[in-house]
Amino acid sequence: MVKTGIIWSDQYLEYNLGEGHPMNPKRLTIPYQLFKSLELFELPEIQILTPSPATDSDILLYHSLPYLKAMKALSEAGGGARLRMGLGTGDCPVFPEMHEAARLVVGGALEGVKRIQNGDVQQAFAILGGLHHAFEDRAAGFCYYNDVVIAIKYLQQEYGIKRVLYIDTDVHHGDGVLHAFYRDKKVLAISTHESGRYLFPGTGHHDEIGENEGLGYTINIPFFPGTWDNLYIMTFENIVPCIWEEFDPEFVIWQCGADGHYRDFLGHLALTTKVYSYLGKRIAELSRLGSAQGRLLLLGGGGYNPDSVARVWLAILASITGVEIPKMSPPEWIDYCLQEFNFEVSPSLEDPELDWRKLDGYPFIEDEILEATHESIRYLKKVLSDIPDWKGCKQFLQI
Ligand SMILES: [Zn+2]
Repeated sequence: MVKTGIIWSDQYLEYNLGEGHPMNPKRLTIPYQLFKSLELFELPEIQILTPSPATDSDILLYHSLPYLKAMKALSEAGGGARLRMGLGTGDCPVFPEMHEAARLVVGGALEGVKRIQNGDVQQAFAILGGLHHAFEDRAAGFCYYNDVVIAIKYLQQEYGIKRVLYIDTDVHHGDGVLHAFYRDKKVLAISTHESGRYLFPGTGHHDEIGENEGLGYTINIPFFPGTWDNLYIMTFENIVPCIWEEFDPEFVIWQCGADGHYRDFLGHLALTTKVYSYLGKRIAELSRLGSAQGRLLLLGGGGYNPDSVARVWLAILASITGVEIPKMSPPEWIDYCLQEFNFEVSPSLEDPELDWRKLDGYPFIEDEILEATHESIRYLKKVLSDIPDWKGCKQFLQI
């Protein structure tokens, strides 16, 4: 039996960027209540893990001392701004206890790392985490401390892990993480996202493939707005599994943001729960091959429609654990969301087959999407087949 930890703390709800801000606690409470209604926490294969706040020295594994000091000072003051550090902006407002809330997120990722490395669980899912836009001395995109980079550095320093695979399927490019390891071959960082031509943070083009020693160890797979399930899956299969097996990671971190879902408020992809069930199954399967032996840490990432977030994360959790879930939403969850938030959730947990062409707000041309995607695949196969370490990927030669 594969044991899975779910990392949760009620204090995660204090990571509250404000009413009306997309990053508000409702997007955590609603998924958490769904898991509870389905009695997932009662299952023998699932264990709730409670995080402790990260220490200063954990945070300094990546962030600069002036940035840490600014975070603490503004947090204590409960207001103000350091705009050069991205603090006090619309995306990253200063809020009371900001440092405390942000360091608990890092603590969640580290709890996952430790419990997996100790063998208490094989895989773990930190519901709040994957704050991939934070840089060494700058907050961005709702992210203050980069729990992903810190977790990877912790794995390297505390456990001597030599090969970490980071896969980021959030709708936004995983810029902070990919930047941190851009010249580093110890981390294979793969990000699939909506093209930076259309969405924040504007980076993650297919020709950004790493530099120096890290050349070929950063892989960006941008998608055109409107990209649908089968096209996403075909692209993933063409690039990811082969390079994954060649790299043979010892530990896998997956930022599994739910904002690629077609009903998300920020992204413009047309993905349904089918893609997330597929990703869960495929990523768990790949993680169980070779040196990683199933060591997989999931970090929740983005997702701003709480109904989509709940159903996407559930699809992922069900497919990484093999736990059967019902087709319909539990009535007590539907009632809870109505009573607590006056929020109506979908009656069905799985999305129906979607004809994305009929969606409002998707005025995209199918041929253009196909052409842009095939161009990315051709480009990536061509440049990656020239990287000596990926010579074993025979699939890259079939263009
Ligand atoms: Zn996102």
